[in-house]
Amino acid sequence: MGLQQVTILGATGSIGVSTLDVLARHAERYGVFALTADRKWQLLAMQCLQHNPRYAVLNDPNAASLLREALVQQGCKTEVLVGVDALAHVAAHSDVHVVMAAIVGAAGLLPTLAAVQSGKKVLLANKEALVMAGGLFTRAVAEHGATLLPIDSEHNAIFQCLPNHRADYLVDGLHSSGVRKILLTASGGPFRNTPIADLQHVTPEQACAHPNWSMGQKISVDSATMLNKGLELIEACWLFNAQPNQVQVVIHPQSVIHSMVEYVDGSVLAQLGNPDMRTPIAHALAWPERIASGVASLDIIATARLDFAAPDYQRFPCLRLAQQAAARGATAPTILNAANEIAVAAFLARQIRFDQIAQVIASVLDKQEVVEPDSLALVIDCDQTARNLARSIIARL
Ligand code: NAD
Ligand code: MG
Repeated sequence: MGLQQVTILGATGSIGVSTLDVLARHAERYGVFALTADRKWQLLAMQCLQHNPRYAVLNDPNAASLLREALVQQGCKTEVLVGVDALAHVAAHSDVHVVMAAIVGAAGLLPTLAAVQSGKKVLLANKEALVMAGGLFTRAVAEHGATLLPIDSEHNAIFQCLPNHRADYLVDGLHSSGVRKILLTASGGPFRNTPIADLQHVTPEQACAHPNWSMGQKISVDSATMLNKGLELIEACWLFNAQPNQVQVVIHPQSVIHSMVEYVDGSVLAQLGNPDMRTPIAHALAWPERIASGVASLDIIATARLDFAAPDYQRFPCLRLAQQAAARGATAPTILNAANEIAVAAFLARQIRFDQIAQVIASVLDKQEVVEPDSLALVIDCDQTARNLARSIIARL
């Protein structure tokens, strides 16, 4: 068999960079077909020189011109394309086998769906796409015979702990596979022990300083509010055909257990490892085989102890909001996700306080009507409405 050709959507981000690191260790197995980014053209230029993809795509036209010039100067033959249609083109191209979906936020939905609709092996990091359009997304996976593999460390862990016969639980639900529940672990982020009264004063820098993981800004803030765990609960329901009440969130500060699955016989299976995204990336890339990832061996003796606690909803109101949206279903998760993206951007821009992120999400969920998401147009419209509502609420804070 020839090389497996890989497109990375979001190549310049934290997940994109880790993916290139794993791919470079297995040049005999994988080729880089396309690398994409929003606007960071210098980093993308370096990546193109190193990995020689057929295409590079930027969202920003000015950045694309600069990249084109830089690559011509260096004699690099990578062709530079621009815009959302080009993202979908390199995700759906007939020469591509694997698509890493690692764009952050709702912007990843359309190119990821393009990969799904072309029946690709899709490695999903972009949880927001699944949260905002889970029903449409999973139906498209089934209809087009795509293979969807989770990159989110928790979901990758759950996937590894679930039975191999996915068809059983995907059709008949987790109970049919003897699963009692999923235990979704969470580190609790940087503010797990901060006095609650102090949370209104925390800065974007403090919120982005995650104790165990190095990640993009948006997911780092989501981890600090624990909305990330809420998105992950919704993500788990779609990926594993679970009901929200089958997913228990557990605080586990060491981030060594990446999640667990409990069976009806009382067995609890866990996946452990160092907190390094190259493990789930390598796992999903090679699945069902195993390849080296570059991740150091887990020093279980040095780890010494594993702690667990229940989440504190007073400290993490965003987690409760997400659980309510998950239970409500329909477009509630779409609204939750859109409101959060706007609120987090406003917090990072120092327009609102950390504790106001939850307030903004709660009032958007309160004001916007929840409907059945029966078309992509409706989902996108709902996302836009929620964003506008969030912006107007922020303007009045
Ligand atoms: P990041 O901010 O580091 O990178 C985001 C990437 O998306 C960049 O390459 C950026 O250029 C691209 N991008 C942003 N906006 C875009 C747009 N409008 N159009 C096209 N491209 C755009 O983010 P990250 O931490 O790598 O996270 C990426 C996704 O993976 C997120 O959905 C996140 O929740 C998920 N995830 C990340 C981690 C992690 O460890 N970083 C873990 C689990 C899940
Ligand atoms: Mg995660």
